[in-house]
Amino acid sequence: MIKPDAVSNGHIGAILNDIIAGGFKIIAMKYIRLSKETAGAFYAVHAARPFYGELVDFMTSGPIVAAILEKDSAVEAFRKLIGATDPAKAEAGTIRNKYAKSIEANAVHGSDSDDNAEIEGNFFFSQVERF
Ligand code: GDP
Repeated sequence: MIKPDAVSNGHIGAILNDIIAGGFKIIAMKYIRLSKETAGAFYAVHAARPFYGELVDFMTSGPIVAAILEKDSAVEAFRKLIGATDPAKAEAGTIRNKYAKSIEANAVHGSDSDDNAEIEGNFFFSQVERF
């Protein structure tokens, strides 16, 4: 996902360029605004964390880009491309280092396991929306 901060700061194109230059194939993509219900369900795994309410507010503050990406070892490769959760700790040249402002408004989301990539892909896309 490209998160609302990166969308409103005009970074959609640059982030997609980095993703494509990183060798990822785009299998599905959509530009949508999440409802509180949808964002809350997407981040349900974080429901017990103190920042959950703020995270849902942030994720619904503007449109996002959701996408399914394909590459060998895609989860690991994408986590490397985006950098650490906190942009202050993200390696130079990573997407979060270049485009994120804070640990919450950190520009992008990437699945953290193959199982979650499948769950999250199915959360946003039906089979007929995929190339
Ligand atoms: P990720 O897998 O790198 O996205 O990180 P996590 O799964 O730990 O957290 C999910 C998302 O919650 C992050 O991408 C941030 O947008 C947000 N987040 C994580 N830690 C914090 C925090 O300490 N405070 C706030 N406000 N948001 C956080």
